[in-house]
Amino acid sequence: MGWCYFKNNKRMRDFTISRYIALLQILQKQNFSFQPFSEFIENPKEKAVMLRHDVDLLPYNSLKTAQIENELGIRGSYYFRIVPESYNETIIKQIADLGHEIGYHYETMDTVSSKFKVQGLKFKEEHNLIDAAYEEFCRNLEMFREIVSVETICMHGSPRSKYDNKMIWDKYDYKTLGIIGEPYFDIDFSKVGYLTDTGRRWNGDKVSIRDKVNSPFNFNFRSTQDIINSVGKLPDQVMFTFHPQRWNDNWYPWIKELALQNIKNQVKRLIVIASPTKEDAAIPSCKGLLRYTRNDG
Ligand SMILES: [Zn+2]
Repeated sequence: MGWCYFKNNKRMRDFTISRYIALLQILQKQNFSFQPFSEFIENPKEKAVMLRHDVDLLPYNSLKTAQIENELGIRGSYYFRIVPESYNETIIKQIADLGHEIGYHYETMDTVSSKFKVQGLKFKEEHNLIDAAYEEFCRNLEMFREIVSVETICMHGSPRSKYDNKMIWDKYDYKTLGIIGEPYFDIDFSKVGYLTDTGRRWNGDKVSIRDKVNSPFNFNFRSTQDIINSVGKLPDQVMFTFHPQRWNDNWYPWIKELALQNIKNQVKRLIVIASPTKEDAAIPSCKGLLRYTRNDG
């Protein structure tokens, strides 16, 4: 999860900016069009790549990938959370000015349930929690829309949470809010390939709690170089999810991310093993370590 291996046994650090650029360039060489998610929803090209960036934290890293893509003539989608470690209005505007799409990475089932827990209150029924989460979602969406236009959303998945943030849509319809797409609902993943760097690997379904889709494709790429080597085998339409906080050229943040991800993956693996039927249930013995798993990245 930290290295690319080449045929001559040489190895190179993975999840660096240079590997990121190499991946984008090989996709360009294969004549993929790069479409922001909203554009794909409205007018999907036959051979298209969507670059989705979940800005879980360290928004400056996202500004960096946004600039790199802009230099290559590529547009992607950036999903920000409403938490101080992600939401930075200056950066959001800068990324929008570079031509990228901005979306809302929502998690209000989590935030509302935690607020009530802190206040020692309990929801009488789950639909009351959904109502409160929906209201908070609407307020947050308005906040985003005061600075940029937002047409698509995607859920943030926290493995330690009891709730799936998508539960709001069991009761409400985001389309009434002018939202045209949520990847987990509006992409047919039986046709569109899905690759995510969740878990700092490209085959992380064993450690991913929520960033999963039902897909017939079995890519099993370990490193970014594996994708580069097999780029010709990708389907014609693909969504990539990146967590830009993990893509670093400098050694210190790169090693820090690698070490933290090792711990997170161990914890997530325990959760998955402990909950084979209900994948999102946390086990009590993990509690001390779970504070490291703030996101599903
Ligand atoms: Zn996230």
